[in-house]
Amino acid sequence: MRIGIPRALMFYRYYPFLKTFVEGCGHEVVTSPPTDLGILEKGTECCVDDICVAVKAFFGHVDHLKDGVDALLVPRLVSVEKRRYDTFTCPKLIAAPDMVRFFPHRPPLLLEWVLDVKRAPWWWGCLRLGGRLGATPCRVLGAYREARREQARYEALLRGGSLPHEAIEEWESGPGEAAGITRGAGPRRAAGETAATGAREARGGNGGAGGNGGCLPPQAGQGKVAGDITVAVLGHPYLLGDGMLNKNLFRWLRESGARVLTNSAFSDEDLEREARLLPDISWSFERELLAAASLFSRRCDVDGIIYLTSFGCGPDSLVMEMFRRETLPRDGKAFMEVVLDEHSAESGVRTRAEAFVDMLRYRETKKAGGRLGAEAVARARAGGRT
Ligand code: SF4
Repeated sequence: MRIGIPRALMFYRYYPFLKTFVEGCGHEVVTSPPTDLGILEKGTECCVDDICVAVKAFFGHVDHLKDGVDALLVPRLVSVEKRRYDTFTCPKLIAAPDMVRFFPHRPPLLLEWVLDVKRAPWWWGCLRLGGRLGATPCRVLGAYREARREQARYEALLRGGSLPHEAIEEWESGPGEAAGITRGAGPRRAAGETAATGAREARGGNGGAGGNGGCLPPQAGQGKVAGDITVAVLGHPYLLGDGMLNKNLFRWLRESGARVLTNSAFSDEDLEREARLLPDISWSFERELLAAASLFSRRCDVDGIIYLTSFGCGPDSLVMEMFRRETLPRDGKAFMEVVLDEHSAESGVRTRAEAFVDMLRYRETKKAGGRLGAEAVARARAGGRT
């Protein structure tokens, strides 16, 4: 069978796992292309107005796949971790297969992979899915083990500083390619930065952090150069990884001469250590985002933080408010919220990104009495912009 996986929502978190598993069960995997205007418009037409843009894009991808595959595979993420209190993901991620079931423009067969760690281990959902794919338990077990290995390789690429879509490309190009990553013509290269460097920087100083107060230093040897601007961007992987949804925010930041870090580079251990110092939240992914926000806000090499969110996102609206009220006043970092929807324009996001970096540079200038900021501007003009 040709099995389609829409390039949206949890694709950016679990695609390597799902692809390896399905192929291990003897089927072919087909994905939709990166989101373009046509896909987004189609998804928008098919959805109610007030649902988030991430879900609208998801339905555009489902529609795109409808004619070219025999079945559609959609993850159902109920819980992704065990805690002493109940944990969940966003209701849209829990109900994604149900939403698709009532969508008229979809392939006839709908398969779901259920992840409900609170009640059953990972392999349980795979056993059910493998049964529907006609694989024997023995084959399912082998495919599952291989899929977990590939998922770990993908996550190592994310920890290495790659954005989700970049990590997927690197993962697909194979272990040899991924090992020495210096990506091709991407914007990171324009900024003279390798993925491995990004990794070290993104993790810098998190390990061994003491209490909740105080500034975390950057990694030894990776200190902030006076006048350089570093911006941390927070968001769900499908917003970080989808250039059509984020309107190429990363490109505009890098072209403004800023070094960019994202929450996807933090290890689970770093996030867990930080999250223990913060209020409990039942939404697992938002708990991670809050922990990442807190870590970035304590990093002395981070000048400003951008939070990418979808218009109408319930979980983000709560977490952002907690971040704004509890973490930001403590550390005093510059903060910008970028709310995305299907009407967002690339020029608007670009203007905001450039203005944010200029404002950070102005602050640097004031701090250094004018000299450093002027040097940084000259440096950015000479090499940063393309
Ligand atoms: S977490 Fe927010 S952006 Fe993501 S699917 Fe749920 S409502 Fe949409």
